[in-house]
Amino acid sequence: MSCKIAIDGPAGSGKTTVAKKLAEKLGYYYLDTGAMYRIVGLYLHSKGITPEDEITLSMLEDIDLKFIEGKFFFLGKEAGDEIRTPDAGKYASLYARHPVVRKYLTSLQKKIAQSGNIVVEGRDIGTVVIPDAEVKIFLEASPEARARRRFEELKAKGLNVEYSEILNEILLRDKQDSERDIAPLKPAEDAFIIDTTNLSVSEVIEKILEVVKI
Ligand code: C5P
Repeated sequence: MSCKIAIDGPAGSGKTTVAKKLAEKLGYYYLDTGAMYRIVGLYLHSKGITPEDEITLSMLEDIDLKFIEGKFFFLGKEAGDEIRTPDAGKYASLYARHPVVRKYLTSLQKKIAQSGNIVVEGRDIGTVVIPDAEVKIFLEASPEARARRRFEELKAKGLNVEYSEILNEILLRDKQDSERDIAPLKPAEDAFIIDTTNLSVSEVIEKILEVVKI
């Protein structure tokens, strides 16, 4: 039987680094569902479609979003750093409220999650995408610690960003993600909650491995 691990949490909680390393360590597949919302957000914004407009399934199918051997492709090209900018995160969060967008991406994610042993990372993984996951982890950290991590990450990529801008963006995204009507950000009832504010990545992974017991 395959094992599914759900890792949820707000922006900058360390989900991506932790989920990737955990998948590597266990030899599992890894799925970053936030990347899918970022791709959709970037695309719809570039087409001048607003989150308040009617968004149809056929518009989303035009994106030609594919997940092949651990990489995302859209419009025939591999997704790159353009989906990692603060703007892409902002659009992702705005369009993620749309019921058609959520239904479409959730159904793709559910299919991918059946591919075998997998670590899936996002906001609604333990609650909606794979509520039957064998292990559910919810990572949290103070907004300041999360903004600091994002700031360092983007700076290391050579992007010119302000800490205060990142902190405001994180606070806004927390609000949008936790107050939306569909699939709001919240831990699953059976999730193991880890506060990562004062923990290193390896300490978080150690804690998770204690729960996973694989
Ligand atoms: O994790 P990441 O910061 O890349 O996610 C970008 C945005 O996509 C989140 O702020 C959230 O609004 C949305 N998202 C979501 N459900 C997921 C993953 C991401 O609503 N499973």
